[in-house]
Amino acid sequence: MTTALLVIDMLNDFISGKMKCDGAADIIPQIRALAECFRKEGLPVIYICDTHYPGVDKELELWGEHAIAGTKGAEVIDELKPQEKDFVVRKRRYSGFFQTDLDLLLRELKVDRLVLTGIDTNICVRHTAADAFFRGYRIVVVRNAVASWDGAEGNEKGISYMSEIYGSESTNAEEIIESLGSEARANP
Ligand code: ZN
Repeated sequence: MTTALLVIDMLNDFISGKMKCDGAADIIPQIRALAECFRKEGLPVIYICDTHYPGVDKELELWGEHAIAGTKGAEVIDELKPQEKDFVVRKRRYSGFFQTDLDLLLRELKVDRLVLTGIDTNICVRHTAADAFFRGYRIVVVRNAVASWDGAEGNEKGISYMSEIYGSESTNAEEIIESLGSEARANP
């Protein structure tokens, strides 16, 4: 079994656009370093991307229009553009699992452990973690690679919630990169 990196909602609308998350720019370098490390180790990098249909999706009634399919706002930011072997899963609700093929993809890739990064800690990361827990995946939340609309305090509360309620580990990007590197050295 293996580990996959999930990069959640690092889209133009959430980083610099109409639903900007203030802490999101700070987590870009850590996500970039993790993605490079996972690719180098041959581990899956999976982008989970909010993609809505205007006038259709119920979620838009609550939040207003954002991440509309086909617009620049729904694209992954240039700094983290998906590479050739990466996967992109589009979602229309908070959870990356809800009515998407993420679970099928993870099973086919023999993934049992998810490393969660991106935004928002208290919305899409948290709902994705809930669905991952319900399905039996091990969860790692990367403290310095998630951010939340409700600031640093909200971010910490969200990380604690996932730890208490879903049994997630929390660590930082540097530790994961180090541990993947040493696994690779042990099993060349
Ligand atoms: Zn949305």
